[in-house]
Amino acid sequence: MTIAGEQVRGRELFAVIDPATGEPFASAPDCPDLALESAVRAAETSFVSWAADEPYRRRALADAASRIEAAAQELGALLTREQGKPLPEAVGEVLSASEWLRYYADLDTPVEVLQQHEQARVELLRRPLGPVAAITPWNAPVGLAFWKIAPALRAGNTVVVKPSPYTPLTTLRIGELLADVLPPGVLNVISGLDPLGAKLGSHPAIRKISFTGSTASGRKVAVAAAEGLKRVTLELGGNDPAIVLEDADPEVTAAGIFGSAMTNVGQICVAVKRVYVARRLYDDLVGALVERAKSVRLGNGLEEGVTHGPLNNKPQLDRVTGLVGDAVSRGATVAAGGHPVEGPGYFHLPTILTDVTDDMPIVAEEQFGPALPVLPFDDLGEAVARANDSHFGLGSSVWTGDPERGASLAREVAAGTTWVNCHLYLQPSLPFGGVKWSGLGVENGVWGLHEFTDMHVIYQNLAPGNAWS
Ligand code: NAD
Repeated sequence: MTIAGEQVRGRELFAVIDPATGEPFASAPDCPDLALESAVRAAETSFVSWAADEPYRRRALADAASRIEAAAQELGALLTREQGKPLPEAVGEVLSASEWLRYYADLDTPVEVLQQHEQARVELLRRPLGPVAAITPWNAPVGLAFWKIAPALRAGNTVVVKPSPYTPLTTLRIGELLADVLPPGVLNVISGLDPLGAKLGSHPAIRKISFTGSTASGRKVAVAAAEGLKRVTLELGGNDPAIVLEDADPEVTAAGIFGSAMTNVGQICVAVKRVYVARRLYDDLVGALVERAKSVRLGNGLEEGVTHGPLNNKPQLDRVTGLVGDAVSRGATVAAGGHPVEGPGYFHLPTILTDVTDDMPIVAEEQFGPALPVLPFDDLGEAVARANDSHFGLGSSVWTGDPERGASLAREVAAGTTWVNCHLYLQPSLPFGGVKWSGLGVENGVWGLHEFTDMHVIYQNLAPGNAWS
C-alpha cells in the first residue's frame, strides 16, 4: 500500500484470483485499522500545502499522467491478470487514467464573477473539501479510480483510494509509481476485504465519499455520508436500454450495440443491457447480433487475438448463468450462447436472448454480463415507456437513420446520457452520471471537478455607505 508516500506491507494478506484460470496468482494486503488511520491522517496532514498551490498541482497531475503512460504495458498486463479483460483494452484503460489526469491538469478554472456593478463585486470560489475517499468496483478499477483522483486532486483535495478486493493490484502498483511524483500523503492507496470501504467512508476526517459500485452498497455509503454530513457522489448500477427504430441499418446498428453490450463481457455500468427493436427490423437485427456473438474469440486476455475474456469473479458468473437459466425456464429462446464454458476460469458465452418479456429478471434487473435480451416493439411511444420503466437511468441510446429524429426521441428518455447512433462513448470533458437509482451527482468535466468543492461566495461591497441600508 502507499501511505504518506511510503510503501507499507500488510501482515494479513488476501488472495487475488486470475479469472482466466480461477486460481489465485497473487496476494494483497488487508489493511489493518492502524494503517487506515495512518492513510487518512496522511491525507489530512498533506491537505493544507497541497490545496495552497494550484500551479504546482497542475504540473504534478501532468507528471503523474506521464508516469502512468510510461508504465502502461506493465500496468495493462497486471490489470488483465486480475480483471480478465483483453490486454489491449486493459492498456487502453490505463491510458485513460493519463487522459483524465491531463484533462484536469489542463482545465482552466477562472474565478467566476457573479456580479460586477457600482454597488458590488461578487465572486464565486470553489474550495477543496479536504481528505476524500475514492472507492471503486472491479469492472474498470483503474479508469474509474482516475475519474475520482484526477478531479479531486486538481481541486486541491487529498485522496485515500480503495479498490475492490477482486482487483486491488493495478491500483496498488500505481500508488507505488506515483509515490515520488506526488507529495507524500496526497494520494494514499490501501486495499482490503470488506468492510474496509465502509470503515474508510465513515472515518470522521473524510469529507467526501466518491463511490462507484452497486446500488445496494451505494445506499449504505449514502447513509454513512449522512451521519457525518459528508459530500457524496454515487455512480451506481444501470440497465441501459437501446431503442432501434425501423429506419436503422441492421448491420451497422448490430455492430454498435454488440460492441457496447459485450465489451468487458458486459461488465460495464453503461453497457447496453436490453434492446427494444422495431418489429419490422427485429429478425434482421437479431440475426446480425447472433453473427457477431459467434465471431467472438473467448480466452485468456493475455493471449493475442482474444477478443473477450472471462467474467471477473465466480459470484458474477453464477449470477449471469442464473439469469439466463431463469429466462429460459420462463420461455426465452437462446439465439446464441446461453451457458458458461466448461473448464477452468469464469467464462460465459456471449448470449443473445429472444422471446423475452419485460418482467423477466434478465430484462428488469442489471445482468452486468454477456447476456443480451432483445425485445420487439410495435409503437415507438410504447418502446420509450418500456425503456423508462426502470429504477435505473444511467445510459441509453437511440439508433436510427435520421439523427435529428433520434435526438428528438432521446429527449424523452429518462437517463443521465442518451446517445444517438452510438453508446458507451465517454470523454473526460462530458458530465457522466445517472438518474433514479443509478446515482447521485456526476463525474467528469468541470461539473465533476465542482463535486469535489464547496462554493464560497466573496461579496465585496463597493459602496461602503450602503453597508446596511
Ligand atoms: P460493490 O458495490 O460490491 O463494490 C464496490 C466497491 O465498494 C468495492 O470497492 C467494495 O469493496 C466497496 N464497498 C462495498 N460495500 C461498501 C460499503 N458499505 N461502504 C463503502 N464501500 C463499500 O460493486 P461491484 O460489484 O464491485 O461493482 C459492480 C457494480 O458497480 C455494478 O452494479 C455496476 O453497474 C456498478 N458500476 C457503476 C458505474 C457507474 O459509473 N455508474 C461504473 C462501474 C460499475
